[in-house]
Amino acid sequence: MRCSPKMRKRSRSHDQETASVAERESMGADSHRCTDLHKLLQHKPRYRFPPPFVQLPLNGLYFIFDNGQSVHEGFDRIARIGSHTGRNNLVPRLWQHITPHGRSSFRWDIGAAVIRARTKGFELPSMDVWNECDSISRKTAIEDERVGTLDRFETQLSAYIANRFVFSVIGTRDQSEALELEKACIATVAQCPLCKEITTTELQPKKGFLWNAMHTGPRSPRLNDQQLSLLRARAGIGAR
Ligand SMILES: [Zn+2]
Repeated sequence: MRCSPKMRKRSRSHDQETASVAERESMGADSHRCTDLHKLLQHKPRYRFPPPFVQLPLNGLYFIFDNGQSVHEGFDRIARIGSHTGRNNLVPRLWQHITPHGRSSFRWDIGAAVIRARTKGFELPSMDVWNECDSISRKTAIEDERVGTLDRFETQLSAYIANRFVFSVIGTRDQSEALELEKACIATVAQCPLCKEITTTELQPKKGFLWNAMHTGPRSPRLNDQQLSLLRARAGIGAR
């Protein structure tokens, strides 16, 4: 396990050693709950982008996996967790991830990572132009020449996302239930010591290992027993 500077500092005195033990125990519990989540998701079918309309629930949360990568001794690696706003918007939300000039921060972050890495095979716009696209509608101020590059980049990006990622969904009663579970799932994975150890040659987010920006901090509440039971019930899986 990687030892953070914070942990090293805490191990320097007896009192701090106690804190370090407590922290290690806490970290063990974190990975245990994350294992429960990964186990649960192994039962759910995987879909490719673009999302199919007919097979998916109207409301719920989604889990995007890095295709072919594993964590927790063989479970598919979660790369992003999300839900949606508005009623019955789960599938439209998933479509935003492969729609050019859309409202997807997931898509925008991947595009930024591709540009930062000067990834071969892409027709790359400048970061400034890409930043301008991070708005609800494309800025008309972008010059025609740049728009051509941007359009081709957007097409390549959609293909990249469709090729790299797969996803599963868990239907919920409504969007507010999905949102609550989403937050706890993100916190559980983001704080999991086993998930943090992932090594990959694939492009990664600027910060952390999840393509999520919110609810990833150490104080974000993780999945509790009640929420895990609810997730299992919504996923159609009995307690194990
Ligand atoms: Zn984990």
